[in-house]
Amino acid sequence: MNPKARNPQALHLIPREQHTISRKNISKAALRVLYRLNEAGYNAYLVGGAVRDLLLGGHPKDFDVATSATPDEVKKLFRNCRLIGRRFRLAHVVYGNEIIEVATFRGTSEEQGEGDRHIVDGRIVRDNVWGTIEEDALRRDFRVNAMYYDISDFSVRDYVGGIQDLNDRVLRLIGDPATRYHEDPVRMLRAARLAAKLDFRIDPEASAPFAELGPLLSSVAPARLFDESLKMFLTGHGLKSFRMLEQCGLLKFLFPATARALKRGDEALRVLIERGLENTDARVSEGKSVTPAFLFAVLLWGEVRDLAHSWTARGKDGNESWSRAAAHVVAEQCQRVAIPRRFTITMEEIWSLQPRFEQIQRKKVFRLLAHPRFRAAFDFLLLRSAESPAMGELGQWWAHAQQLPHETLAAALPLHHAGGDAGPDPVRATAPRKRKRRRKPAAGKSGAS
Ligand code: ATP
Ligand code: MG
Repeated sequence: MNPKARNPQALHLIPREQHTISRKNISKAALRVLYRLNEAGYNAYLVGGAVRDLLLGGHPKDFDVATSATPDEVKKLFRNCRLIGRRFRLAHVVYGNEIIEVATFRGTSEEQGEGDRHIVDGRIVRDNVWGTIEEDALRRDFRVNAMYYDISDFSVRDYVGGIQDLNDRVLRLIGDPATRYHEDPVRMLRAARLAAKLDFRIDPEASAPFAELGPLLSSVAPARLFDESLKMFLTGHGLKSFRMLEQCGLLKFLFPATARALKRGDEALRVLIERGLENTDARVSEGKSVTPAFLFAVLLWGEVRDLAHSWTARGKDGNESWSRAAAHVVAEQCQRVAIPRRFTITMEEIWSLQPRFEQIQRKKVFRLLAHPRFRAAFDFLLLRSAESPAMGELGQWWAHAQQLPHETLAAALPLHHAGGDAGPDPVRATAPRKRKRRRKPAAGKSGAS
């Protein structure tokens, strides 16, 4: 069996009693779609990541359906259906807040089937040629992503060796890797992301072209790379995705400033990023909300900080240096990954509040505590503790300051800036804690830190 061949292999059919997929683990909405299509005389299968994850014993986050019905035929069957996409025409069937994506089998060549496919410089820009299930399997990316769960007899159909790869825990591309990456460079990122998510290795043949073909990512729409970045970093396996991206040499094509800073040996940035991603993964697994803004602020911090410092060292105004550094880094990043404006505004706030944590002066401290972005900026400050011991102490000082009653904190703070330099000063930074203890011998209660 040659994994590079793009001819369908013999069908490997796994009957109901020989696999572990149970309808209990398939969403009601997906089952309804599958049954309705089937009753209307069409073939209907669950496909892709959902089948892969179910076979691995996981819980798919989305369910995709593949069918012999055309989008128009799907539309006629479901009231709650809208047709979307030009590049790939698809039907979305909506049940409450769940969307089931229903795609017609796609063919592999222009001669076969009906519809249209458009290829520019080896890249698929439109793919609406309808085909057979075998052809549909071959145009998918990885062999583990090309298995079909048949609702008519509950069997799993494997045309490309997906079961074997699931057992071997490996990601192999269907067909020639270079050709498949030229068709769609995002498949390189998907390899890294899925390897991280599933804890699979990437087949050496699939990773070999990364160095040469990685630059193709610069021609992918930045909005699509933003979506892909969210899937990598905000779905619970961000830290592993980040390490995998770096290991695959793909980080520099997505986050050039981050890759540059890490290459310079910015170990404090590495700690910041690893901790930031670890916290994010923990929040996702606890079902808490996560914001892309915080994470992108973490990834790009090294370059922003260094630029701002170099400008202030050359005598430029502090505030202006920070806002110019932020704008500069954001502008470069958005050429690759289109971070929406609402997030870049928050990122710039988080960054520009950082130097203000070093200004331990009564009015300024209270103004910062009341800032709408204080919480995010403070969480960010805590992640920076690896930058220097003083930074660690500064974080502790602010953690402590927030717990003090207003008057206690006010009494402990100097009215004016004590020193001339803007750098963190652990002596100044710990001052209120010492003073407070002296001033409140009997209270004892608010002293816990
Ligand atoms: P996840 O668990 O993150 O959803 P997934 O494999 O399901 O992973 P989706 O983006 O939901 O990823 O895609 C569903 C299916 O569509 C894939 O399993 C694969 O069969 C096919 N697919 C997605 N993206 C591509 C691509 N760029 N090229 C070829 N096939 C793709
Ligand atoms: Mg999916």
